[in-house]
Formats: sequence, structure tokens, C-alpha cells
Amino acid sequence: MLKKILFFLLIALIGNANAQYWQQQVDYRIEVKLDDKTHRLYGEIAFDYLNNSPSTLDSLYIHVWPNAYKNGNSALAEQLEGEGKKLSTIDTAKLGSMSALAFKINGSAVSWSFHPDHEDIVLIKLAQPLAPGKRLTLTTPFIVKIPSGSISRLGHIGQSYQITQWYPKPAVFDHKGWHPIPYLNQGEFYSEYGSFDVSITVPKNYVVGATGELQNSTEASFLDSLAQDTKTRISEIIALPSGNLRDSFPPSASEWKTLRYMQDKVHDFAWFADKRYKVLKGTVKLPESGRNVTTWALFTPANALNWQNAIEYINDGTYYYSKWNGDYPYSAVTAVDGTISAGGGMEYPMITVIGNASSARELEVVIVHEVGHNWFYGILGSNERQHGWMDEGMNTANEMRYVATKYPDNQDLSDMVLGGKLHLNDLDHHDMGDVFYRFLAVLDADQPIETHSADFSSANYGAIMYQKTGLIFQYLRSYLGDELYDQCMHRYYDLYQFKHPYPEDMQRVVEGVSGRKLDWLFGDLIQTTNIIDYKIKKAQRVEPLNTFTVKVKNKGSVAGPIGVSSLDKAGVILETQWTNPTDKRSTLIFKGNPAINEFAIDPNRNIPELNRSNNRVLVNKSLFKKHEPLTLEFMFGDHEANKTNVFWTPMMAFNHSDRTMLGVAVHNFGLPFKPVQYFIAPMFSFGRKTLGGVAEISKTCFPANGVRSIKTGISIKSFGIDDDPNGQRQSFYFAATPYLKINLVSDTRPKGFSNDLTFKWLFRRDIFSNDMSMENGLKVNHTIQSNKKNFSYQGQLEFEGVLGFHDEIFEFENYARVSTTQEFKVKYLDRKKTRNIKFRLYGAYNLAYNPGSSYYNVMGRYSISMFGSAGYQDVFAENYFFNRATVYGAQYTDDMGGFRTGSNNLRMSNYWASTVNATVQLPIQPNMFVAFADFGVYDNGVGVAALYNAGLGINLGDIVGIYFPLVQSVNMGDLYQNYKTSIRLTLRFNPFNLPYKLSTLLK
Ligand SMILES: [Zn+2]
Repeated sequence: MLKKILFFLLIALIGNANAQYWQQQVDYRIEVKLDDKTHRLYGEIAFDYLNNSPSTLDSLYIHVWPNAYKNGNSALAEQLEGEGKKLSTIDTAKLGSMSALAFKINGSAVSWSFHPDHEDIVLIKLAQPLAPGKRLTLTTPFIVKIPSGSISRLGHIGQSYQITQWYPKPAVFDHKGWHPIPYLNQGEFYSEYGSFDVSITVPKNYVVGATGELQNSTEASFLDSLAQDTKTRISEIIALPSGNLRDSFPPSASEWKTLRYMQDKVHDFAWFADKRYKVLKGTVKLPESGRNVTTWALFTPANALNWQNAIEYINDGTYYYSKWNGDYPYSAVTAVDGTISAGGGMEYPMITVIGNASSARELEVVIVHEVGHNWFYGILGSNERQHGWMDEGMNTANEMRYVATKYPDNQDLSDMVLGGKLHLNDLDHHDMGDVFYRFLAVLDADQPIETHSADFSSANYGAIMYQKTGLIFQYLRSYLGDELYDQCMHRYYDLYQFKHPYPEDMQRVVEGVSGRKLDWLFGDLIQTTNIIDYKIKKAQRVEPLNTFTVKVKNKGSVAGPIGVSSLDKAGVILETQWTNPTDKRSTLIFKGNPAINEFAIDPNRNIPELNRSNNRVLVNKSLFKKHEPLTLEFMFGDHEANKTNVFWTPMMAFNHSDRTMLGVAVHNFGLPFKPVQYFIAPMFSFGRKTLGGVAEISKTCFPANGVRSIKTGISIKSFGIDDDPNGQRQSFYFAATPYLKINLVSDTRPKGFSNDLTFKWLFRRDIFSNDMSMENGLKVNHTIQSNKKNFSYQGQLEFEGVLGFHDEIFEFENYARVSTTQEFKVKYLDRKKTRNIKFRLYGAYNLAYNPGSSYYNVMGRYSISMFGSAGYQDVFAENYFFNRATVYGAQYTDDMGGFRTGSNNLRMSNYWASTVNATVQLPIQPNMFVAFADFGVYDNGVGVAALYNAGLGINLGDIVGIYFPLVQSVNMGDLYQNYKTSIRLTLRFNPFNLPYKLSTLLK
């Protein structure tokens, strides 16, 4: 009863919120002519702008987006540069622009200027402010230089034209104010609704697809005849061999034609023209109104094989989206084949452009997705730049549902990965999003769904904004059930069609219709990176009542509902129950049924849970109730729902002491990554004729609040040490380092910021033929990192302390040290090449220092090295070395003093040292050559000494470095006496950190 009252109350609120709603109206008249020799558009535009807002406007923002392609200064250029595409180096003939602008309002010239930061936005100061309810008419001529289609959405490839975001267009003014936005590749649009009356003049033999209803009957019959011809000759077209006959553009007709398109209730207008297009025409009957909609497919002969059934895809997409959201309101849907570079396809009202697809299925999914944008973008006109999930994510939810409805047994993801060669056989279209999202979340590299488009990393733009949104709305649908979910979506569609809904509007409608509070979805899942993990605790038969009680626990940080099902032996769901979203622990009561074999949380994987290994419990076995069958697989694969997958990979290693090592790694690095990861690689050492190797085990958890993630783990290593004092090869070390790493950044962190606190303990034994040393230690490290476009910073503060004991000589030794490293990286060259200057400051102070008298003391195992640590100084066994023992071995890690000279004159301090290292990436290709200079002061035991050196080197991604010093201070000796020992090699490589490295790349 309470629920019902709440329901009506909310409906009343929806109505109320709607009553105050207003939006601006823009009615366009455009005449444009295509010059296909110079690739230019000559146009005249007039639009009536009706101010429906309660505010008086004293200015207008107009988007002139073709200027985004003008030079290297635009927001588009800046964004593309981050993706490795530079407008400043592109031949100017391939760039675009908008010129000849001469704005008039109500017939009088006005003063206008470009936005100070964005030449693709114009600001017009109105001579006469526009009062509420008043209208003005703006006119201007314009010339568009059409850029190369390889840059972004507007463009031409030869004489194939994609005319999008091409005319002067006012920015949206809504209840939140003006929304002037520069054109971007990653980041979509926001536009006012109105009407279009567009006349397009092109050489007569072009085939044109456009937004709106075509007004010319001769052109309509021309298209019908093309459609008839394509239909009868389709197999002949498919069989055409590649080459001029099929692919080249026929000469343009000398006669012209003018095509007129009209449309009401749309917020954009795009058109596409190609002389080679083949045409297919169809019709689809809408599920609710029964109205017929005409469907068109325009494609080049080269893509005819995949496109032959395109009408079916357009029809089915239009049908299902209408059924699940509401009928399509316009008279036609068109999909055109185009070679655009902004992803697989791009949507415009009533027309979509589709990039090359590798298969008919892939083409179908892209067509359905782009056609689906008619609902989530075209009809529900949200602010895509700010709340991209409202169009891309909602659309992906419908796309996932489409594929699952039409192809319930699909294995799309398995088919995609190496042609299905890996063991990924139970992964379908929905799993693409599921795996991709969980992969990033476990690596801690995800961002909230509600993130500005331009602030998303490109991986998260796809995995989070599209896919995770799709997943969580599938979760909502499985919670509400299809019928109630569809009612919510229909109501949202009815209330906000041809309007500008915001996230709060959608939440209000869905909560109102469903009668449920959905903060766990619109709050936790959309606004934060909080994670979902539910656990089934136990299932107990209650004999007297013939029921089962099932206890479940919410272990994650999202206060969401949990769906639990009873299943029979064949895995068929018998009954499903949901918990109350806010309950941490719940007990569900199921009806007794002899067929029940197990209870499972979310058996159909509708919930994007991070850990699914705690989701099942068998009812009939008393022992190993929660255990899942174990499968061992070669190399790498996926983690299947009700199995424990273990992978094995052959391993080979090499170092000076062990010579060749052969072995096998057993690990669980499958897809998606699991919170618990292990990698165990025992290897046989041919040098020592015994076993060595590595083992790493870690667990990442995501506490509900406070810190972002906590990783606990242990790393175990054992390798040979050459240069035993007795020169024997049997010496080796064994090191175990448990660690705890806390990511202190909150869930709503800014992009590119990290704050980690790490504790590492050391238990190490070095076994020599005549001695054994034991070392126990602790390292505490705090690292803050901030990456901005032109500047990045990393600051570390570290404490390390080690207590050692030598068995043979019965001697204790120890050291304790504090150190700090501050790194600043600044971009100094930003046009044609991106190059950085890096400054590194290092300071270390030994709080305690007692090196004993052992062999290691002579080498300075516990000293502060001016050069960086050699193998024998890697006390915590953190890195891999070809040779751990030789004093003059060329390999160092680029830590401590960081001097880049492999000097045969050891420079170390037992007290303190401080250095500055500067590295400049040289502006030559490829980007691997550097100039460097190092300066340092240290206490050498006699007094304070200073050192410097400088030279040239090669640096590959901070993993490998080779340095050739050219000058050095006199106190470092004669550089050229034995030059080859001055050359220095640095190497920092750790295969277990690969997933982590990957995540920093993705961030
Ligand atoms: Zn999309």
C-alpha cells in the first residue's frame, strides 16, 4: 500500500517537473552546393531562433565545427594528438575549415568574434537582447573546405562525401545555461530541436542519403530504380572483382540536380554522397502503431557481400527498439556505407554511417547500434558530451538485448579472439562488455560511468561509458523483470521524446514507474567505481517445512539487490528470489523441490560482479560444497562460470649463474583477471643442476569506503649467485617478500592521479659454499603520482631497514635509510613531435649503517650508490639481473643516485648522498635518443665530494637504457682509458607486474 502511494506521488512529481520544462526552437533553411573538384561546399543558411526560456538573451553561441580541422590548435587537434594523430603535420590540403561567414540578424550585420580558446565556436553579441518568447532570424553565407575523411567524422575519401557537423549551428541553451562545446572526436554532441528545410545541389549522377523526407519525385523514382536494379543484380555485384571497374569513381555528370529534404522534430542534419552507391529498399511495420517505415541501405560494390542483407538488420533494429522503448516517430531509416575514422559507425537523425566491417554479423551489430541511436540521441536528446552514458550506454544496453534476443546461442567474443583458437568457447556478445569492464576494474584502472567524455581514457570510454552502462541496465532489467523494465523505458521515452533529459530526469521516471529506490544504480554504479561482489554463505534444508534457507552476503561496495536462483542438475533455473538492496546480509526462503541441485547467485551472469567464484553452493554434497571442478589448460584462456580454470605456460629463463633455466608456470592470468592472482614458475637450472624460479600470489580487495583498493601478496624468488667467494656455482639466494599495497585515492579521483602506500617485508637467505647469510627487512614506500597533458610529477618517500646475520663469521650487520625521489617531466616540444625533459632529484640518508666485514661489505651492499643498484645491491630482490654478483657488471637499475656511467671507480656513500639527473629526449626520429647530465654530492667518508657527468644515450620506455658518457668530473678518473666499462646498461623488468603496467598504460 505504501508502495502504491509512493508510486502515485512520484508520478505526480514527474508531471510537475515536466510542466516547468522549456527548450529553445531552431528552424533552419539551408541551400548548399557541392564542388567535387575542389572538395568544397558553398552554402547559405538562415535559421529562426525562438527563445522559449524565461531569460533574456544578450548573446548567441554558434558552433562552426569545420574549423576544428583547420590547424593544430583546436580542441580536436589536441585530442587527436593524444591518440598519436597530428593535425599540424598533415598536408594542409587535407585539413578543413569554414570561411566566408558574414552573420546578419534580422537583416542587419552584427559584430561577432571567435571564442578565445576555440575557433570552432562563434560568439555573437546581440545588438537587441532577445526577450522570452521572442524570435530572431540569423543568416550567413558559408564555405566549407571538406577535410580528409581520415581525420574524424566530416570528410571525403576521394569523391565519397560524409557531410556531418557542417553548418553554423547554435549551441544549446537550457535550464543549466549555455553549452558551447568545441568539436571532439572522443566526445559527442548536444543540439536544439527544430525543423530543417535543406536544398542540396550535386552533379546529377551522385546517390545521396540524408536526414529528412525527400521532396523531389524524380529523385525518388531514381532511387527506386537503383533499388530495383541492385536487388536483381546483387549476386553479380558481389562477384565483381576488385579494381577500377568496381571501385573507382565514375566521372561526374556535367548536369546538376537540386535535392530538397524537409524534417520536423530533429536536432541535426547530415548527408552522404557517393556516385558508386548501390541501393536496397525495404519496409518495417512498427509494433505498437502498426505504421510502416521505409528503410534504405546505401553501400559501395566493394562491401556488397556483407551488405546484401542490410535491410533485415535495419528493419529488426527499428522493430526491437520500438518494441522496447516506443515506436519510431519518423518515416524513414537509412544506413550508408562510409569509411569514417571515428569508430565503427556514427549516428545522425534518421541516417547512420557505418565503417568497414569484417563480417556480416559485425555489420549487423554496428547497424543496429547506430540505428538505435535514433532513440538514444535522436529522439531523447541528452547532453552527450557531459553524460555520454545516457546515449551510448543506454543504446549499448539495447544492443546487448538485441543480440541476446535474436542470437541466444551466439559465441561472438569467442569467435573474435584468434578465430576461437584459445579456450574461450562460452563467451558471447554480452561477455565482451563483461570481460572488458571486469578486466579494468580488477586492475583498478576504471573510472565512474558519470565522467565527462573528454576526461575518459580511451579504454574506459568504451569499457565503462558504453559497456558497463549496458551491463548495469541489464542488471536492472533482470531485477525488475522485462515487463516492468519496459514500462519504465516507455514512460521515459513518452515524457522526454524530442526533449533534453538529464540523469536526474531518468532516475525520477524509472523510480516512479518501478516504485523502487534506485540509488544503488544511479548513485553507486553510475557515479562511482564501487564494485559488486555477492557471496552465497550457505543453503540449508529445513525438513519439517520442506524449504531451503539460503544465506547471502553483500561483500562489495554497492548496496544493490542480489538475485539467487535454485537450479536442477541440468542447470535449469527453478526459482529466483531477490534480496532487499540495502541489506548487507539476507536470508532467502526457497520452496523445497527434490530437483534442486544447487543454489547460485546470478547464474546467467546479468550482474557485473568482480568475483564470481563465491556464487554457488551444491545442496547434496556435504563435503566441498562450494568447490568447483578444476580444469587445467594450456597457455591462457577464460575463467568459466562454474569451473576453476588453471593455466600452464612453458617458461625459459637465462642468467649468468643458472645458465639456461627451463620450467613451467602455473597461473590464473585468464580473462577476466581475478582478484586473487597467482603465478608459480619453478624452473630447472642447468648451471646449478637444481630448482629455482619465482612464485607470486596476490589478492586485491575493494573496501566499501575510505581507500580505493588494498592488495596483499607475497613474492618468492630463488636464483643462483655467481662469484661465490670460492668461485663455485652452487651459491644461490632465496627471498620471500610479503607486501601490502594500499591505493589511497578515493573513488571519484581525478584522472591521472595515484596515491599508494606500500609495506614490504623481506626474509632472505643467501647460501654460499662456506657461508650463509640471513637478512630480514622492512620497506615502507609512499608514492604520489599526477599525470597531466604537459606535465607529470612523481614523488616518493621511502624508509628501508635490514638486519643481516652471517653464519660462518658469526656477525650481525644492518642498515636503516630514508630516501626521497622527486621526478618532474615537462613536455618541451609539442608540435610535430612530442618530447620531454625529465628532472629527477634524489636524496638519501643512512640512519644506521653497520656493514660487517663480509664479502658483501667490500662491494658496498648496504651503501648508497651514486650510480643505481647493481645486482648485489638489490637486497629486496625486486628486479631481475643477468648477473647479480659482479661489481663491474654493466647492468644497473635506474634507482638511487642514477648516474649514467658504468664507472670502474665505485662511488658510494655510507652516510648520505644527493643527486640531480636531467634527461632530454632529442627531437629526432625515432623517439629513443636522449642527452643526459648527472650531478651529485655525497659524503665519501673523508669529506664531501662532488661528481658530474654528461653524455648521450638510448632509452626505451624506461625499461631498457644504454648510456654513453662524453664528459665526467676529474675525480671519476679518465673516461676514455677503458671506455667500454664506462658504457652503462639499465634494465628494469618484472613479468608479474605486467598486468599492473598494462593498467597504467590504460589509465
Ligand atoms: Zn554509439
